[in-house]
Amino acid sequence: MKRRTDPIKTFLPILAVLLLGACGGPGQDIASGLRNNYNDEISARVVAEEKGVKSSPYCSGLSEQYSDSLLTVINLYNNRVATAWGLPMLAGHPDMEGAISVRICKDQQISAYALGNTVVVHEGLLYKIESAVYNSADTQESDRLFLSSLGFIIYHEIAHIELGHSTKRSDPYMEWQADTFSESAIKESGLDPAGAQIVFSIAEEIVPGGSIGHVAPSIRAMTAQMQMAAF
Ligand SMILES: [Zn+2]
Repeated sequence: MKRRTDPIKTFLPILAVLLLGACGGPGQDIASGLRNNYNDEISARVVAEEKGVKSSPYCSGLSEQYSDSLLTVINLYNNRVATAWGLPMLAGHPDMEGAISVRICKDQQISAYALGNTVVVHEGLLYKIESAVYNSADTQESDRLFLSSLGFIIYHEIAHIELGHSTKRSDPYMEWQADTFSESAIKESGLDPAGAQIVFSIAEEIVPGGSIGHVAPSIRAMTAQMQMAAF
């Protein structure tokens, strides 16, 4: 279990400044992420919801439309990030036992989240990314930006799982940890850092002031820019 860097510890002082003293969090080593922060009641709800997603015909691990992109992001995580950081592999197949898996749900919801060991991404969010990146004749560049945006989202949600964050009680510190993990994972995977900014610009469009547990997307974008420049 070796890590070359610990982005959480490295950037703790920056967070303290940006969030005006919201520091003093656990500061735990991201690689040894604790998975036991749930209380029983929340745990039971998460388990039920995760089961629901996994058995839903609308949520699949390898949807026809996005399977190539999803597999690329998963393989980069497994081969570069998980290997370098000593973290468990992400399931390449949704039914791989004990691993974190990814489901894409076919609806217009513009969101992504982690439920238990499952990362859930709704197609509405993927459509938003597509309309943000496929706006020039350069489809190779657009493909690259789509991949890195998808990567940023998935790696952010993996961070919540690895760190044992409850999906029901997210706070700005947890979100910053997940953003930082994801930014660092993007760098490690070789994906384009621009994906983070695309995701934040979509969030800015939808919830400009932030949402429960999330500071304003403009602040997250600025933080990401500073941190990614320093990685
Ligand atoms: Zn989050």
